Amino acid sequence: MVFESLSEKLQSTLKNLTGKGRLTEKDIDAAMREVKLALLEADVNFKVVKQFVKTVKERSIGSDVMESLTPGQQVIKIVNEELTSMMGTGESQLELKSRPGIIMMCGLQGAGKTTTSAKLAKHLKKKGKKPLLVACDVYRPAAIKQLQVVGSQVEVEVFTLGDKVNPVDIAKAGVEYAKKNGLDTVLLDTAGRLHIDEALMEELQKIVQEVSPEEILLVLDAMTGQDAVNVADTFDDQLKLTGVVLTKLDGDTRGGAALSIRAVTEVPIKFIAMGEKLDQIEVFHPDRMASRILG
Ligand code: GDP
Repeated sequence: MVFESLSEKLQSTLKNLTGKGRLTEKDIDAAMREVKLALLEADVNFKVVKQFVKTVKERSIGSDVMESLTPGQQVIKIVNEELTSMMGTGESQLELKSRPGIIMMCGLQGAGKTTTSAKLAKHLKKKGKKPLLVACDVYRPAAIKQLQVVGSQVEVEVFTLGDKVNPVDIAKAGVEYAKKNGLDTVLLDTAGRLHIDEALMEELQKIVQEVSPEEILLVLDAMTGQDAVNVADTFDDQLKLTGVVLTKLDGDTRGGAALSIRAVTEVPIKFIAMGEKLDQIEVFHPDRMASRILG
């Protein structure tokens, strides 16, 4: 389970503090050293860890904490608040005001883009939307077929022009199709590559220019840890992301990407996925995640 070890370590460190009654600055220092180690072991970005520990320490040695009746509890509250703000500022909703609202899904191959597109389509359908999946990956063999398979599993129509048409034209035609057929949300499943490359970015930029998606979501594999953070940074530079979907949290025990992406890139995590099944996606709540970590 994600954050298992981090959770255990933070809980035992903080429990030591609550068992102490009055606290000294030395107690806080010692605890923060352990918190720092636990976060680094969870693969959280080094700079993010440094800032986190500094802020928690500064807030904790304030007189309102040290002289309170339950200083240990106060420190836990501060850790909880700072963990939450590390991951975001509340729930980040999809911002879809146009009709149709357009979501461009992007990411490296294997991150879970196609699966996540179908999951999101299902999620939107449950909320009363009428989504359309558009097959813009014309490079990976069987990508279109795969989208059709997951599309039919979630009972959402898939628009395709085959693999001989330019993805930019497919995106435009997909949007037109949605307009004509009363579908209110378009999900563009774009091509992934093994590595970030210029051709991939140029194609995505062209799609952005042509159809102006309101949401540009990057699908990231949480198991790739700090690499995922670097990928997010690059995609955000080139495309101005509106959000991240973090997948495979079920296979990631450390959780470093979840704890670093927002703080490093300022791009909010909007959804998390914890399994291959098409209903295994949830809206990301930083506060709930922080509370889960702290038990
Ligand atoms: P794409 O190349 O980015 O379109 O990736 P796919 O959607 O084809 O997914 C790649 C693999 O990851 C597939 O085997 C998916 O079933 C799997 N996958 C996607 N999301 C998750 C997830 O949240 N958890 C797990 N365990 N597997 C996932």
